[in-house]
Amino acid sequence: MSRAFGVLAALAVVIYQFLPDDRWWLTATQVGIGWVSVTAILAGAHRMPRRERLPWWLFAAGVFANATGIAVATIAAESYGLVDLPTPADPFFLTLFPAVAGGLAVLIRRRDRRPDRSALVDAATITTGFGLLAWVYVIAPRNLGDHMDRLAHATQVAYPIGDLLLIALTTRLLRSGGSRGAPFWWITASLAAFLLGDSAWVVLGNLGAEGEALANTPWIARLLESVFLVAFLLFGVAALHPGARQVAEPADSRPAGLGKGLLALLAGASMIAPAVLVAQTATGGVTDGWSIAFCSAVLFLLVVARMALLLREVERQAGQLRDLARSDELTGLPNRRAWNDELPRALERARRDGEPVAVAVLDLDHFKRYNDTFGHPAGDQLLKAASAAWHATLREVDVIARYGGEEFVVLLPAAGAGDGRQALERALAATPLGQTFSAGLAVWDCRETSDELIQRADTALYRAKKDGRARIEIAAGQPSNAAA
Ligand code: GH3
Ligand code: MG
Ligand code: MG
Repeated sequence: MSRAFGVLAALAVVIYQFLPDDRWWLTATQVGIGWVSVTAILAGAHRMPRRERLPWWLFAAGVFANATGIAVATIAAESYGLVDLPTPADPFFLTLFPAVAGGLAVLIRRRDRRPDRSALVDAATITTGFGLLAWVYVIAPRNLGDHMDRLAHATQVAYPIGDLLLIALTTRLLRSGGSRGAPFWWITASLAAFLLGDSAWVVLGNLGAEGEALANTPWIARLLESVFLVAFLLFGVAALHPGARQVAEPADSRPAGLGKGLLALLAGASMIAPAVLVAQTATGGVTDGWSIAFCSAVLFLLVVARMALLLREVERQAGQLRDLARSDELTGLPNRRAWNDELPRALERARRDGEPVAVAVLDLDHFKRYNDTFGHPAGDQLLKAASAAWHATLREVDVIARYGGEEFVVLLPAAGAGDGRQALERALAATPLGQTFSAGLAVWDCRETSDELIQRADTALYRAKKDGRARIEIAAGQPSNAAA
């Protein structure tokens, strides 16, 4: 359906080039193509669930108003001689901007559930750059012509402002997360066509008499009109595409932070202000100093804001990475690396506070047999359940970490042999699924290193295993002052 429409649309644009040079025929064809596009958009929207139709209705309204405006312009000019701004057609043409911008805003909101600040900064950067261009070369010069009345002036200025609005929303759409299937690109292409057509008008308008002559050259006029026809039709192609609904689906993946293309685009947009300054300086005099300075400042601040957001994102990811590197994937407990950092600090605290500290090494009994009997996944489940159960019996200040395989280590601050044994007895009793562990407990002697302390606990564990398992052995060499 979408493909057939696309082929017919391409055909219609080609045929348009060969139509006789009759204003009425050309107008009828343009409006016809516009209305067919509107029908296609509405048909596409009709196939979607009701709550997903709004953006498409807005697109249809924009295209309908714009296409109808072509008929209004021809009738006003040919039958009533109304060619001075504002013509009765201008409200129709201008309706395109708020309608399409509204549709885009709805799409963007649906695609990005959470506001994306860096995407907003990017859109603002590009729009500010183009805004300066529009101001210096289109809007400000019009200001000088005081032969124009206010309404005519406002009408003329409304077009570049509308285009800036579309630029802002198009760049924001391109920076949104979510699906980037064919309909997404058809919409983008349609917006690009509208902007291309409008820019061409602006350039011709600024070439003075020469531009007017070009605009009245039949094949150039027809090519320009075709650009808008393509824009109308591409919205229809997008709406009829089977995947059109996905354009409004929320993102599960965000576009990469700052790709090369985007970086180049942002750099280019930021260079617009100095480039305009260079251009004016070179041609004899800076006439827009204030606007150039203002936009330079805004662009500068936007770049700083973008950098700050990027830095914050990098810090957030570094934090995530740090947490990942220090925790065990299966049990969520601190891993050996975290433990190796924590133990010397705990010993240092104990030395400073003059308190005892105990560590224990735990090893599940006959875990290989458990794996062999119930399977490796069941073994994993046991590791998870057991570590959670042990953790729950310990105090808030105690630390339990996964040392490796089915071996765990426990740090018991302010605990001597007696308290330590009691804590481990509670943990042993809490071991799920009828399983047990053996443990070696060592109380720090206030002199030995972390490694020596763990070594003593490990030796005690070995003894516990040898003596029949499911028991807690206290390491030899207890300091006399650690009996708390
Ligand atoms: P003992 O009572 O002497 O400690 O006997 P055991 O079977 O527990 O000890 P052994 O060291 O012979 O076997 C440990 C087993 O733990 C072997 C290994 O496959 C298993 N294991 C180690 N890490 C994991 C793990 O992450 N998941 C599972 N399911 N099994 C693991
Ligand atoms: Mg083991
Ligand atoms: Mg074991």
